[in-house]
Amino acid sequence: MNNRSKSLFDAALSVMPGGVNSPVRAFNNLRDHPIYFTKGDGPYLFDVDGNRYIDYVGSWGPAIAGHSHPKVVSAVRTQLESGLSFGAPTEIETVLAETIIKSVPSAEKLRMTSSGTEAAMSAIRLARGYTNRELIIKFEGCYHGHGDSLLVKAGSGALTMGVPDSAGVPKDLAHKTVTLTYNDTLGAIAAFRKLGEGIAAVIVEPIAGNMGCIPPVPEFLETLRELTSSHGALLIFDEVMTGFRVGLGGAQKLFEVTPDLTVLGKIIGGGLPVGAIAGKTEIIDFFAPVGPVYQAGTLSGNPLAMASGLATIELVSQKDFHKNLELNTTKLSQELEVLAKKRGVDLCVNHVCGMFGIFFSDQKRICNLTDVQNCDEKKFKLFFNIMLENGINLAPSRFEAGFVSSAHGENELEATLRAAEKAFSML
Ligand SMILES: *Cc1c(COP(=O)(O)O)cnc(C)c1O
Repeated sequence: MNNRSKSLFDAALSVMPGGVNSPVRAFNNLRDHPIYFTKGDGPYLFDVDGNRYIDYVGSWGPAIAGHSHPKVVSAVRTQLESGLSFGAPTEIETVLAETIIKSVPSAEKLRMTSSGTEAAMSAIRLARGYTNRELIIKFEGCYHGHGDSLLVKAGSGALTMGVPDSAGVPKDLAHKTVTLTYNDTLGAIAAFRKLGEGIAAVIVEPIAGNMGCIPPVPEFLETLRELTSSHGALLIFDEVMTGFRVGLGGAQKLFEVTPDLTVLGKIIGGGLPVGAIAGKTEIIDFFAPVGPVYQAGTLSGNPLAMASGLATIELVSQKDFHKNLELNTTKLSQELEVLAKKRGVDLCVNHVCGMFGIFFSDQKRICNLTDVQNCDEKKFKLFFNIMLENGINLAPSRFEAGFVSSAHGENELEATLRAAEKAFSML
């Protein structure tokens, strides 16, 4: 059924580490080989062996209006006719910047990059440059790309300096990042009490999407806002995943907490490589050429990527876009829980507009990374594979969120639930 995917993976294994250019794609611990896709259309992906899948990965977020949306394809095609990249400013960069600034409360000015990683990394440098401090606070289970300062895990004991979470990250640099428990408001207060004067910034996913889907508990984001403000540190929301997904203004609008800096990516590129650091003018102007913090990119603000991002944002700006997306996400999540219960499977499904997290757990609430790690790994693996064999493409890791797009209609949701019911009965 997946013969060609398997042979393509075998070939890839000899020329790329793990056969892939980004680790999660390797399906490690889930299946012996990933699926190779050839085409995306609306809610569907088609693989090299002729199978069709209802897709809940959506290129990890950008395909919020479905794959190959005609308006996005046409915007990219139009730009394509005029050239790919000039290494000089183009008008469309300003148009996309204005569009983002209109929607995202914290955004007064922004700098484009080519990936979320670059944007998060640059936001950290900017925060350090602006505050003239070096310590960074992040939260366990949040992912902010693979910049050195962000590939850090908690040291042993509360409030100790971090240690590298990857080979190749200097220990001395990791010491400058403190990792706390997500949703632990008291932990954040304690960290500021001890280290407050040295903290340049707190970076957080306002809705965590890289350990399944975990919304913030009440007061968590508000407290981070108060702590950073009162200690002269910056609050950075990493909305690479949530930006334009949970609403036009992102999670900051939803929870009415405005950060100093916002990191964006994924949807704002509509499937082409884009990231952005947005925020208060006074802070963003610390970037070169105006300010002393160096940041640059050959393909930053690339016109094709700007065209694709702009077309995608226009689609999500249509009336009731997020209202409908939220209804569908809620329906899918709640029905999954009901079906699991019927089959005696312990399941908790967290969801926010357009994203969900499937947790095989008897816990009522999943709030942090430890909760996620305690979920049933074997059940997830079985579920993932049964769903895949029944034409449902879920994220190939129990630490990743699922994404619903506006192209997922009644038929796709029903088909997904039927496959899930079958899977639950086999767990
Ligand atoms: C995907 C993601 C990133 C990294 O973006 P890339 O474009 O993959 O470098 C950063 N932060 C969050 C929250 C993400 O989901």
